[in-house]
Amino acid sequence: MAFADRAIVRVLPVVPKGIVRKISDRYIAGTEVAAACRVVQELNEQGKMATIDVLGEEISSRREALGIVRAYHDVFEAIERERLDSNVSVKLTALGLKLAHELCYANLEKVVRHAAESGNFVRIDMEDSSCTTDTLRMYRDLREAGLDNVGVVLQAYLRRTLRDIRELAPYRPNVRLCKGIYVEPPLIAYQGFEEVQQNFVRSLGELLRIGSYVGIATHDQFLISEGLRLVGERGLTREQYEFQMLLGVTRHAGNRLVRDGHRLRVYVPFGRQWYDYSLRRLQENPKIAGYIASDTVSRLFGADGR
Ligand SMILES: Cc1cc2nc3c(=O)[nH]c(=O)nc-3n(C[C@H](O)[C@H](O)[C@H](O)COP(=O)(O)OP(=O)(O)OC[C@H]3O[C@@H](n4cnc5c(N)ncnc54)[C@H](O)[C@@H]3O)c2cc1C
Repeated sequence: MAFADRAIVRVLPVVPKGIVRKISDRYIAGTEVAAACRVVQELNEQGKMATIDVLGEEISSRREALGIVRAYHDVFEAIERERLDSNVSVKLTALGLKLAHELCYANLEKVVRHAAESGNFVRIDMEDSSCTTDTLRMYRDLREAGLDNVGVVLQAYLRRTLRDIRELAPYRPNVRLCKGIYVEPPLIAYQGFEEVQQNFVRSLGELLRIGSYVGIATHDQFLISEGLRLVGERGLTREQYEFQMLLGVTRHAGNRLVRDGHRLRVYVPFGRQWYDYSLRRLQENPKIAGYIASDTVSRLFGADGR
């Protein structure tokens, strides 16, 4: 990572909120559900699906966790009312994972049951490695309880991922596969760029082999090509997989996939906790700071190519 990028990561917490807001603006739909709906509407018009995330990992009380459950309730109502093509993504820490396991499971079950009422689907995001085992256990518990409108995320940088895929195989899980955004130690996570790429491709191959529906979540051109190769080799139809990207990232690559007839789902985060989210993302993955730094510099000098 370049010196300038590292410097940006270090000073981010003291950068005025207004500036952080500006540089993270394109990654977040807004603070209210209406803003998220507007963004999803636009994406749908471009032939893209969406997954809406209510920002709020930083909760510290049962009351706040219930607030997130209610926020998802509003999201499902809005999706139905406005006939949007969108499911939702949830973070278990926002539902109380760090407060109490039972509380979190009860909240998650409420969200998943509510989604089921309108034929919708819940993706459980994967957070840092202190959450992995609990997250997978809750996913399995939901499936054991007969709830099928739920999927999970696996991270290619984790050494355990291939093992997790094999253990989840009996459920034929619906999986979003991504590289992983958190900073994890070498003991549990691959550190090298190439190693992560290789494990992504191996994991995707294994998921397709066990019959999983996979959301191939990446902006990496090599991994997109490998994804296309693997689904092509299996002769999958367009309904049997999807690509996923983050709001505001590599729009052209996403447009190309849609033009070529593939399904693309865009991750649309919204909420009042945009600041913590933006900051954490920048700090957790210094690489992103590099993108944002160059983006900001080009905006400042009027050459952002919009
Ligand atoms: C839909 C979706 C959901 C995700 N959910 C999770 C999750 O639940 N848990 C988790 O740990 N991680 C999640 N991630 C993040 C993921 O793990 C990666 O950190 C992130 O996608 C970057 O990896 P990449 O595969 O795009 O490859 P990279 O090598 O990081 O990026 C490839 C290229 O994409 C572009 N790019 C990538 N990110 C940005 C950016 N922010 N701004 C501008 N350009 C960018 C750059 O051109 C870069 O060269 C998710 C990602 C996506 C797309």
